[in-house]
Order: sequence, then C-alpha cells, then structure tokens
Amino acid sequence: MYSVRMRATKDEMHISGAERLVDEKNIKIAAVSMIERALSHDRGKPDFINISVEEIETPIKEITSLPINLVNVNSVEEGKKVAKKVLSHIGIPYLCVEKAFTLLENGPSDGENMRGAIVMDMKGERLEPDKRRGIRASHMDITPIASLLLADALSKKGLTRHFTHVKEALVLATKVAFTKGSIAELCWSDDPFYTTGYVASGKLGYVRIPHLKKEGDYRGGRVFFVDNVNITDYIEEIEKTPVLITKFDGLREISDLNNITGE
Ligand code: AMP
Repeated sequence: MYSVRMRATKDEMHISGAERLVDEKNIKIAAVSMIERALSHDRGKPDFINISVEEIETPIKEITSLPINLVNVNSVEEGKKVAKKVLSHIGIPYLCVEKAFTLLENGPSDGENMRGAIVMDMKGERLEPDKRRGIRASHMDITPIASLLLADALSKKGLTRHFTHVKEALVLATKVAFTKGSIAELCWSDDPFYTTGYVASGKLGYVRIPHLKKEGDYRGGRVFFVDNVNITDYIEEIEKTPVLITKFDGLREISDLNNITGE
C-alpha cells in the first residue's frame, strides 16, 4: 500500500489538501484526481501543488467508522449549545469546553487558523508542541465499499452534496477516536461557506451539527481532547500509523438529543 497526499497553497496560504491509501496500481488515478481537485477549489487557484507518494511499511490498522448521528439545529447559538452538551456528556470538563470554543472562535494561532489540531488535556492545557502547525492526522482512508455505503446513507437524507466533506471528516474523526488517549474531538471548518461542524467520540459517535459558525466566518479548527497521554507517542500515532476504515457503522437522525446522551 501507498500513502498518496496532496497539499495546495497560494502565497503560502492553504487552499486544499487530500490523502488516500491505495495499491500501487491506483497511485496514478489518485494523484491525477488530487491535482484536478487542487485546481478547482473554491478558495482559488494554487501557485504550489505538492503530491507525495510514500510506501507504507507498517501494518495497516483496519477499523469500523464511528456511527453518524445527525442533529438538527436552526442557529449557531443552538448548535453551540448542543456541541457543549455533547462534550459535557462525554465527560469533558466545563473549563476545557469553554476554552476550546474561545480558541476556535478567535483563531487559536494568534488570531489565525492553525494547519492542524490543538491537543488539550483535561486541565485545559495545550499539549501540541507547535501552536501554529498543531498536530495533523494523516495516513488514513476508507475502502470503496464502506465509502459507497456512506454515500448511500447520505443520499437518503438529501446530503449528497456534502459527501466529500463528511467522508474526509469521518475518516479523520474515526482515526482520532480510536487512538489511545483520545476522549473527544470538536471541529468546525475554516471554509467560510461550510458552517457545519461535529463532536466526535468513541462514546457518542460522530455527532454532526449543521451550524457551529456564521456563514462568511473564515475561522475554524480542531481540538483533540485527551487524557493520560504521552504526547510524543500520541502525535506519532495520529500522524503516522496507517488506518483504513473497512466498515461503515451507519447513520441516524437524532430528533431529541437525550436519545444519545441517555438523559
Ligand atoms: P477543514 O475541516 O479541512 O476545514 O479543517 C478545519 C481545521 O481543522 C483546519 O483549520 C485545521 O486547523 C484543522 N485540520 C485540518 N486538517 C487537519 C488534519 N489532517 N489533522 C488535524 N487537524 C486538521
């Protein structure tokens, strides 16, 4: 297997990125489709595209995706309330939840977005060594069959146009959730026109929340909430261990949040 990755920038600002785990015979197809994607991004034409192909020598961990729970909210205020309630139910202390929201709302790297994620312990301390880069989950993918089942489930809910976003976020969130020491993840996009975010955890699955920021807001980010980790081992696992999602664990709509928190 090979890890094929793409990163596109303009004036050193991030435009798009993608990654796949593929057999040797599929390297070319993956690379071409990544170049096409880099050249047609909403954020504009890149002046730099980097494609890397790396042979994977360590065994690939095969896992089942987190289940997707769709929550319906009508405003950013309601969305944030739901996200905070879910995080609190998972067991993230109030102080950490509030700190995570403040960081993502204001730009966690001196007012700017980070390239990767914040790692926050249960005391609210940031553990990532580089506060601009953060840590970057990598070497992960989903099989074509699992991906097809996800596409089918999304289409039944009228969410086909969000397929790529949800697929990539679900793959990342599943890898993070299965990494030892991870308790939960909070994410919303830095894409100004994508206001949806999620809270993911092994405990409550991938909870998709339609409004976590206002349209036009370019700020976004990720927080990995952790407990009892050796940060060097944690980063190594998130960034380097290859993970392939071979099964999709389904999607359901949650009309009453108490159905998942069990309250
Ligand atoms: P996106 O969902 O791609 O809009 O990314 C939202 C935010 O998540 C970015 O601003 C980064 O801070 C962070 N992020 C993006 N990709 C990764 C990654 N591979 N690993 C960790 N954090 C990431």
